[in-house]
Amino acid sequence: MTRGGSGQRVDVLVAGAGPGGAVAAHTLATRGFSVVCLEQGDWVNPGDMPGNRPEFELLTQGPWSVWPNQRQGRADYPLDVTDADADPIMFNGVGGGSVFYGAHWMRLMPSDFRVRTLDGVGDDWPIGYEDLAPFYEQVDRFIGVSGLGGDPAYPEHDYPLPPHPIGPGGLQMARGMNKLGWHWWPGANAIPSTAFKNMGQCVRWGLCERGCPVGAKASFDLAYWPHATAAGATLITGARVARITVDRRGLANGAIWIDVDGNEHRTEANAVVLAGNGIGTPRILLMSDDRHPEGLANSSGLVGKNLMLHPVNSVIGLYEEELETWHGPAGQLIYSMEFADTDPARGFLRGAKWALMPPLGVLHVLDHQRTRPFGARWAAGLHELARYTGRSMIWSGVIDDLPEESNRVTLDPSSTDSSGLPGVKLAYRRSANSERMVEFMNARMTEAHEAAGASRTLTAPLTESGHLLGTARMGADPRSSVVDAFGRSHDVPNLFIVDGSVMVTGGSVNPTAAIAALSLRSATHLADTARDQRVPA
Ligand SMILES: Cc1cc2nc3c(=O)[nH]c(=O)nc-3n(C[C@H](O)[C@H](O)[C@H](O)COP(=O)(O)OP(=O)(O)OC[C@H]3O[C@@H](n4cnc5c(N)ncnc54)[C@H](O)[C@@H]3O)c2cc1C
Ligand code: SF4
Repeated sequence: MTRGGSGQRVDVLVAGAGPGGAVAAHTLATRGFSVVCLEQGDWVNPGDMPGNRPEFELLTQGPWSVWPNQRQGRADYPLDVTDADADPIMFNGVGGGSVFYGAHWMRLMPSDFRVRTLDGVGDDWPIGYEDLAPFYEQVDRFIGVSGLGGDPAYPEHDYPLPPHPIGPGGLQMARGMNKLGWHWWPGANAIPSTAFKNMGQCVRWGLCERGCPVGAKASFDLAYWPHATAAGATLITGARVARITVDRRGLANGAIWIDVDGNEHRTEANAVVLAGNGIGTPRILLMSDDRHPEGLANSSGLVGKNLMLHPVNSVIGLYEEELETWHGPAGQLIYSMEFADTDPARGFLRGAKWALMPPLGVLHVLDHQRTRPFGARWAAGLHELARYTGRSMIWSGVIDDLPEESNRVTLDPSSTDSSGLPGVKLAYRRSANSERMVEFMNARMTEAHEAAGASRTLTAPLTESGHLLGTARMGADPRSSVVDAFGRSHDVPNLFIVDGSVMVTGGSVNPTAAIAALSLRSATHLADTARDQRVPA
C-alpha cells in the first residue's frame, strides 16, 4: 500500500483530484506536509482522448460524454434530475472537470463579491476581489494562462503568456461588436500559447472541450498533479471517499474509503480538505453522518443548499465566408463583458459573460438547434450544416443564477454508485430573473451575429454547465454559512473546503480560475496556521 493508504496517518487528506484538490495538494506538499489525495476516478491518458478519431462526435455521446448520467462510468455516481431544470456535466477522474473544460480562464468581477450591497439580492462574500487577486496571479503563472492584459472591464492585470490568435472568425465578430459599440477582448485561455513546462504544444485541434489529445490544455492532471506528486503528495486513484470521520472533540481525523474491488480502507489525517465539487462535496458531508445525523459541518443546515449551476445560453451564427473555425483553440476566441454586470433597465439583475467559440463539430451544431427548424429533418440538417464547417461560430453566455435555498443537493438512497454509496438528487429551478436574462442574451447575441454578417442564426436550447457552485458557502456568520473566509468549516476547525461549493454567488464568468485561486488561498492559510489547526508542520 502506498504511503497514506489504509491504516496510515498523514498530515492532510484531500478528497477529490480536480483543480481544487490539485492546487491544495501541491501547495501543502510544497510546504512540507505529508499529503494523500483520494480520487474515485482514474488517470486519463491524453492520447486516449477521442478528439483525433473519426468517430469523435459519436464517442462524445457515449463513453466520453460530459454527462455522468450518459457516460455511466465506474467512477460516476447517479444524479437524479427529475426535479431539476438541469442535468449537470462533470468528469470524475484525475483533473476532474478540467479534463473536459474549455479552459476559458476568467476572473470574477469586483462587483461579484458585493451582490447584496450593490443589487439587494444574494449575499456579499466575506472577501473581495483584491483578496483573491494575488492568488489568481500565482495560478495564472503556474499553469501558463494565455491572454492580453489591459481589459477595461477589470482592474489592471496581465497574463504570463500572449493570447492565441483570434483568427478570421474572431476578427469578423470583433468588427461586428465594434459596429454595435459593445465590449470585446481577445480570449483568456488556460492553454499555453508557447512551449510551457511539461505541456504539449497547442496545435489548434479545436477540440479542447472534450479533452485535448496532445496534452496542450492546462487540465489539472497535467498542469498541477505531476508537480504535486514531485513535491511529495500521494495520489490514490479508484479511491472513493465514503465518509469523513471525526473524533470525540469534533475534529476530523480521516476518511473511510472504498477501492475498486469494494474493499474498505481507513486513512487517518490531522486535517481534511474536501474538493469533490459543488455536488460531490455536499454528498460526502451528508454521507458523514456517524456523529452528525444531518451531515458533517452542517449546523447551519446549508450543506447542499444554494446550488448554482450557471445555465448556458447560446446562439450560433452561420456565415457564408470561410472563417477557419475548424481551428482551435476552443477555448474562447474572444469574450465580451458588455452584459456581465447589472443594468436594472434590462429587467433583470446581474448578467452573463459571453464567449465566442468555434463549434466542436457538425453534430455539436445540430445538437444546438435540436428544437429548431432542422430538428424535424435531422439528416437533411446534418448535410446542410456540414456546408458550414469552418463557417460557424457560437456565442455562449454564462448566466449568473443567484443562490436560492430551494435549489439543493440531497442524498438519494434509492440509487447507488459502483461502491454501493447513495447517489444524489438535485432540486433546481431556474428563477424568473435567469429566464429574463436568457431571453435578453439570446436576442443580443443574435444581433451581434447579424452585425458580424451571419447569413443565419440558430438560437439553441439552454445547455448545462459544469459549474457546480454554492452548496457550502463561505461567510463570517456560522448561522448563514458553512465555512469561513478561508474555506475552513465553522463547525470542524480542521476541515477545509476548496471547490466551487464555497462560492457565495456564482458570478457571470466561468469559475475555475476562482476555484483554483480560492484553493491556493485556503491551502496557504492552512499551511500558515497549521499549529492552530493541530496539523504538525
Ligand atoms: C465540458 C466542460 C466544460 C467546462 N468549461 C469550463 C471553462 O471553459 N472554464 C471554466 O472555468 N470552467 C469550465 N468548466 C468547469 C470546470 O471543469 C470546473 O469548474 C472545475 O473542474 C471544478 O474543479 P473542482 O476541483 O472544484 O471539481 P471537479 O473538477 O469536479 O473535481 C472533483 C473531483 O472530486 C472527485 N470526487 C468527488 N467525490 C468523490 C469521492 N466521494 N471520493 C473520491 N473522489 C471524489 C471527482 O471524481 C472529481 O475528480 C467546464 C466543465 C465541463 C464539464
Ligand atoms: S486547440 Fe490546442 S488545446 Fe485545444 S484540443 Fe487542440 S491542441 Fe489541444
